[in-house]
Amino acid sequence: MRIVILGAGQAAATLAARLRAQGHQGPLTVIGAEPVAPYQRPPLSKAYLLGQMGLDRLVLRSPEWWAEQRIDLHLEETALAIDPQTRIVATDKGQHAFDALALTTGAAPRRLPAAMGGHLPGTHVIRNLADVDALAPELRPGRRLVVIGGGYIGLEAAAVARKLGLEVTLIEAAPRILGRVAAAETADLIRTLNQAHGVTILEGTGISQITGQERADGVALSDGRHIVADLVIMGIGVLPETALAATAGLALDNGIATDARGRTSDPAIWAAGDCASFPHDGAQLRLESVGGAIDMAECVADNMLGAERDHHPRPWFWSDQFDVKLQIAGLSTGHDQIVTRPATGHHAASVWYFRRGRLIAVDALNDARAYMIGKRLIEAGRSPDPALVRKADDLRVLL
Ligand SMILES: Cc1cc2nc3c(=O)[nH]c(=O)nc-3n(C[C@H](O)[C@H](O)[C@H](O)COP(=O)(O)OP(=O)(O)OC[C@H]3O[C@@H](n4cnc5c(N)ncnc54)[C@H](O)[C@@H]3O)c2cc1C
Repeated sequence: MRIVILGAGQAAATLAARLRAQGHQGPLTVIGAEPVAPYQRPPLSKAYLLGQMGLDRLVLRSPEWWAEQRIDLHLEETALAIDPQTRIVATDKGQHAFDALALTTGAAPRRLPAAMGGHLPGTHVIRNLADVDALAPELRPGRRLVVIGGGYIGLEAAAVARKLGLEVTLIEAAPRILGRVAAAETADLIRTLNQAHGVTILEGTGISQITGQERADGVALSDGRHIVADLVIMGIGVLPETALAATAGLALDNGIATDARGRTSDPAIWAAGDCASFPHDGAQLRLESVGGAIDMAECVADNMLGAERDHHPRPWFWSDQFDVKLQIAGLSTGHDQIVTRPATGHHAASVWYFRRGRLIAVDALNDARAYMIGKRLIEAGRSPDPALVRKADDLRVLL
């Protein structure tokens, strides 16, 4: 069986490794548009942006590993179209025939439209190594940075820039930061942290325009104010990369729609990672996380080899900002009760999410024990008494 994987990121690297580990001996090809072998993206807005981590530690596997595993890695090659009848992928460099195909094309960062200045030199997004290699030299002490978007990537970039000595203003159009992904309690803790380090945060504030002629020189706000900037980072979310799937006529629903096993509407084509959605709680869920990409890629690899097993995600996530490590277990969507638990240590606390009495997620700031215990409980389907979570001297009594 000839297996081709399109997109060479986290999900592709996991899928390829799992296929070999599970005994796939046949031809295995990975095709990726970027000039670098699969690498981890999280450090792009953290240690790598800060200059504390090199490319050698960013890549997921050494060059030798790809050769030893007999994986045909095609870099700087962009897939253009899939013909599901002939089972051929056309790229900008040639053609690849497949018996089974996996789409791991990830997601593309949103930019403000050109009419709003989103195309101007001096504006940046953070998705690829190339984005960060262009941004990092711009982060020089004393310069003024405006970050548009108060999600995790925007907040992490703001923290790095502040550490490097820039003046940083972060602008969020919604009433508060982290509106899409965390409770107000977590957002409050993160806001306090950032403000304590000198990041100016403007919430409930829309953007009317990135200003500048030749280059971005500021941001005009919808309330009439103007913030001067030497550079602008847009952290306004991503869109799943579905263009290729569309060429094959695959069903799309919040990304490339798959069934519980990761199979798309074409039985020979599978999908995993940021580009793919799967059935969950009556809707098509799409996760944008390393853990999500790994879980789904492993499940798809097993099913490509005939395992017929369903994908059960065990979501986890993290974010590094200043001296805080935020660790998240579970999915907080649909929560109806929140318990906040202070912890000892700098900015340490945890926020526990319940839905109809069931523990569904935990956000832990500088509190590894709360994260580990919360994660174990969620994965075991066990729900502690919310009052005990708040009051217990030692969280281990919950186990
Ligand atoms: C700055 C940043 C920080 C993050 N921080 C965290 C974090 O702290 N924790 C966490 O869990 N997650 C984090 N994430 C998310 C995580 O990195 C992604 O969820 C993960 O990389 C998804 O893996 P993927 O393989 O689906 O997609 P990607 O890693 O994006 O890989 C997709 C690849 O496919 C390629 N591709 C797309 N179309 C084509 C085509 N037509 N032909 C060839 N190649 C193509 C792309 O160029 C890309 O290289 C972060 C992401 C970013 C950008």
